Amino acid sequence: MSRDPRYDILFEPVKIGPRTARNRFYQVPHCNGLGYLHASAMATMRGIKAEGGWAVVNTEQCEIHPSADSSPLVEMRLWDDRDLPALELMAQKVQRHGSLAGVELTYNSYAMASLFTREIPLSPSHLPVQTSNRDPVQCRAMDKDDIANFRRWHRNAAERAVRAGFDVIYVYSAHNLSLLFHFLSKRWNHRTDDYGGSLENRVRLLREVIEDTHDVVAGRAALAVRISLDELVGDKGLERNEAEDAIGMLAELPDLWDVTLSDWSNDSQTSRFAPEAVEEPFVNRIKTLTSKPVVGVGRFTSPDTMVSQIRRGILDFIGAARPSIADPFLPKKIEEGRIDEIRECIGCNICVAHDELAVPIRCTQNPTQGEEWRRNWHPEQAAPAGSQDTVLVIGSGPAGLECANHLSQRGYAVTIAERESEIGGRVTREARLPGLATWGRVRDHRQALLAPRPNVDLYLESELDADAVLEFGFNRVVVATGSKWRRDGVARHHQHPVPGLADTACLTPDDIMDGKRLGEHYLIYDDDHYYLGSLMAELLAAEGAKVTYVTPAGIVSSWSVAALDQHRIHKAVLECCDSVNLNAALASVDAGQAVLECVFTGATRQIPIDCIVPVTARLPADGLFLDLKQRRSEWADAGIRSVDLIGDAYAPGTIAAAVYSGHKLARTLDVDIEPDAVPFRREMTRIEDYDYEDARNA
Ligand code: ADP
Ligand code: SF4
Repeated sequence: MSRDPRYDILFEPVKIGPRTARNRFYQVPHCNGLGYLHASAMATMRGIKAEGGWAVVNTEQCEIHPSADSSPLVEMRLWDDRDLPALELMAQKVQRHGSLAGVELTYNSYAMASLFTREIPLSPSHLPVQTSNRDPVQCRAMDKDDIANFRRWHRNAAERAVRAGFDVIYVYSAHNLSLLFHFLSKRWNHRTDDYGGSLENRVRLLREVIEDTHDVVAGRAALAVRISLDELVGDKGLERNEAEDAIGMLAELPDLWDVTLSDWSNDSQTSRFAPEAVEEPFVNRIKTLTSKPVVGVGRFTSPDTMVSQIRRGILDFIGAARPSIADPFLPKKIEEGRIDEIRECIGCNICVAHDELAVPIRCTQNPTQGEEWRRNWHPEQAAPAGSQDTVLVIGSGPAGLECANHLSQRGYAVTIAERESEIGGRVTREARLPGLATWGRVRDHRQALLAPRPNVDLYLESELDADAVLEFGFNRVVVATGSKWRRDGVARHHQHPVPGLADTACLTPDDIMDGKRLGEHYLIYDDDHYYLGSLMAELLAAEGAKVTYVTPAGIVSSWSVAALDQHRIHKAVLECCDSVNLNAALASVDAGQAVLECVFTGATRQIPIDCIVPVTARLPADGLFLDLKQRRSEWADAGIRSVDLIGDAYAPGTIAAAVYSGHKLARTLDVDIEPDAVPFRREMTRIEDYDYEDARNA
């Protein structure tokens, strides 16, 4: 297949100072929890994006000095020459595929607490750090000597970055994550010297650092500036007009402008709260301010939207973090006319969340993300089938669909049996909830791949039991039958059933998603702490019910802090519920009265309700698997060589975990796995005080 000519414009080369990008696909800097700790994994992941057609591939934030250390987060470091190998490796892996490698030099200031180094972060003013833990650390307001030191650190880092072979060197002034941004924003800069007050003064350090970097780089690499255009806090912080004035003052100094919103939660909004191209109203005047190329993001996955951004003069480069994570081969697929194969980001922020949790990145749509090096999983490559075995996959939720997808890609003959009249399992059900329609892409992508394959059969309305499975005699059986929400209140707060709940009007989230309703006043008891409790509240409130929300946590949907949309979810719940009860557990239910208990004092109070919706924990729907396991002696006669259990039916978790589980089994179905071995490669720390030579000779 060849490319549709209307997308030709996306494949035009664009000059960035002394370098030329081969097309307009630009992977903006993004964090990933691999960083300096898992450098081979990070470099391999970036290299695959270059292979997939991204013309520019950047690092995550790269710390320039120990006094702004982002621990416990795992980013890149360029403190001294000892940090060079990891960065050199990344640049080489990117350049091998004809792409440009970029590095985002960062001094985090208020954004990090330097917990590892114990050095005091420097900042424009005396303020506490803004970390999510609210660490008891204050930054030190910089004097002129500190400013001179910072400028020297940045120059040194830029010189090292050039020596590491990078094509694009960033000056970072964005996202509420960088000292230069903090100088720029009046919210964070309270200075009265010539670096504070007027915009001209607040821009001064950014200008100086751009000029310093320009001098150091001296045509050996391109210079990019990443700047945020609005903090979305009104005139308390940086606003669009002021940011545009700042860009106007510096317009021709860098070789490229990379524009974003601040903070990160505004730049990487989840699809529940923001559509594709949400930043356009903030970005659409930047190209009138500068002749230099402009890159911006907007969770772009549609090539038509991308073309529109270029043709209407909004952007020169299609910037992407999440779409490049979900599909590292997105540009190649457009180039080769394989639009239907694009694995579109669903905007769930599972990727972001695991960076925030300081562990390797993962992605709901792309199960290979973060596993490229340690498990040797390439997102587009599949090992040929190891045998002629036929495979039966029971259940077409995210686990079953992904398993069937990869197994059939490998060449196995796969039959999918699904009880319902449509595929998708929980994804299909949850995508009908308010704001989650985009999540349906998990199903749609796999459906698009499976439908044309001659080695795939799908049977809907086919509920299987053990007798049926043994009768069919497929060689391999994969059970992906999902899970069910509990109705007894057991989860984190209660390890045993909530007294009285069994005798009360009660609907689980499954019942609610099936359309069942009981009465007018619902109590949502959220001991799950992710998205579903809030969505049950929103759904019922939108239907006109009175909703009381109760959670033992101090905030609504507390896990969503890591996914960056907790504050938006909390607001939505406050707006739709009649009452929101935090730090409160459902202690018992008695004669239509819910007894709530303060998690700190134990004080109780009663509220009348019609129906309780416990959003607590799930139980695996593993009955079929257990039946089959009990009848293991019959497998050989039936021709069955293995029966595996995957996804939520093994252990209920996220959709990302279900997809990963299905993919993992498809990769390893015919591989002998040593049960006692570590199942992947690891980057080992070289122990400084250990004598490796002696140990080898001993
Ligand atoms: P996961 O997240 O692990 O993929 P889901 O709950 O999303 O799990 O999907 C499980 C799917 O399995 C559902 O679509 C359900 O209808 C289907 N299913 C469950 N039991 C059977 C069965 N015995 N036969 C066929 N399909 C089943
Ligand atoms: Fe997109 Fe979710 Fe994957 Fe992140 S984890 S890239 S938001 S699909």
